[in-house]
Amino acid sequence: MKIKILHLYPDLLNLYGDRGNIECMRKRLMWRGIDAEVVTYTCEDSGFDLSDVDIVFIGGGSDREQKIVCHRLLEHKDEIRNYVEDNGVLVAVCGGYQLLGKYYKLENETIEGLDILNIYTEQGKKRLIGNIVLENDFLNQKIVGFENHGGRTYIGNHTPLGRVVYGYGNDEKSGVEGVVYKNVVATYLHGPLLPKNPALCDYILTNAIKRKNPDFKGLGGLEDTLEDMANQYIVNRFKK
Ligand code: GLN
Repeated sequence: MKIKILHLYPDLLNLYGDRGNIECMRKRLMWRGIDAEVVTYTCEDSGFDLSDVDIVFIGGGSDREQKIVCHRLLEHKDEIRNYVEDNGVLVAVCGGYQLLGKYYKLENETIEGLDILNIYTEQGKKRLIGNIVLENDFLNQKIVGFENHGGRTYIGNHTPLGRVVYGYGNDEKSGVEGVVYKNVVATYLHGPLLPKNPALCDYILTNAIKRKNPDFKGLGGLEDTLEDMANQYIVNRFKK
């Protein structure tokens, strides 16, 4: 089996090393003897095709870059929506998360989103920056990361990725962070999200493999001492 990972616009959206998440998924597959092919779709490319893609990743970027990407992705709105509704795995971080919603309202303009999630984002006065810890009901590990966003995202009835134990989360007030919808994981957590959260990474990989092979029995464990230590360090350091 080979898993195909598509990294969308790494030339524009790659803040804080979002690319490391791709490497993490590739390695965790490889360590289980599963091949992974990583392809990119950049500003220079044409021929957008999700038909044989197993995981789509889209990272974060500045408002300027996000606007360019949004504009371009609107051309592929239906393909992305169909992929998501067909249980395609999509991981979206920060700017990538915001653009899945209805719109991102800035002071002087509103950027139209892909309207794949029933959410919207409005720019707030101060940026929400710092370490963040989430608890969740579907992993045996807390999710840790770093957030840096001006936007506040309002997720309505969607299921969040987790409850905020420490940090700001979606909108500073609701106490929740991110969205999980079908096989979409959308979050403000930047940088080494998956390296520090091996349980989340394996959840994403499992969803991708199961979609391809419904008889798949589950990923075997890996020696995750260092990864778990990194995760636990943040959990212990940043408590309520
Ligand atoms: N431009 C968005 C914001 O500041 C996202 C930034 C990012 O991806 N870090 O809210």
